[in-house]
Amino acid sequence: MSNGILVVLSGFSGSGKGTMVGRLMDKYPDEYALSISATTRQPRRGEEDGVSYFFKSISEFEEMIRRDELIEYAEYVGNYYGTPRVYVREQLDAGRNVILEIEMQGGLQIKKKLPETMLVFVAPPSAEELKLRLTGRGTESPQVISSRLRRASEETEYMSQYDYLIVNDNLDDAVDKLHRLIQSAGIHDDNAAADMRISAQNTFTEHIKNELLQLSKGV
Ligand code: 5GP
Repeated sequence: MSNGILVVLSGFSGSGKGTMVGRLMDKYPDEYALSISATTRQPRRGEEDGVSYFFKSISEFEEMIRRDELIEYAEYVGNYYGTPRVYVREQLDAGRNVILEIEMQGGLQIKKKLPETMLVFVAPPSAEELKLRLTGRGTESPQVISSRLRRASEETEYMSQYDYLIVNDNLDDAVDKLHRLIQSAGIHDDNAAADMRISAQNTFTEHIKNELLQLSKGV
């Protein structure tokens, strides 16, 4: 059996990538495995340990780093986040495609170590829409929302290092695109997803970069 594909899904906080992944897993439960990250962030309402994340203290997390138990880790708006190695390895070896929903520093670390990793970026249709989604979630304070918008603006600098871009305007369409993209990689058909290459979408990338810069100056 051949190895599964490792897919990193990143996107600004509020891009809807978490919902996309949830929908993808519901639709194709046998084809994908979702890695559960470790974090030092406090659980949000409704989040369960071992389901949403493995919630760790700072010293527990640092112990995981020391023991080299993480494929990658990063600091994001004041907390550590990292991907435990064992599960990912097991699933890939069993031929399942593994999805990591992680931020960009982590994605780029993995690409360096495992160049065959597919890096997919999810963007909202506009920066205004991103702000609306972050505010509408109602789980974060205005300060945290501002930090996340500033972080989104900084992250635009790294977008061109990603392989593919999916604009999450309509959830079902975005999920279909993601599935098609991963399937096309499985059969080594580069052309099937040529329209999703980030290099084919420079106009959109430049536009949202400018919008986010303006918006993050105002918060
Ligand atoms: P949140 O606090 O909203 O759950 O996540 C904040 C950010 O951390 C999101 O962009 C999420 O994708 C990212 N993240 C979650 N798990 C990991 C991980 O294991 N490693 C890295 N590098 N980022 C992660």
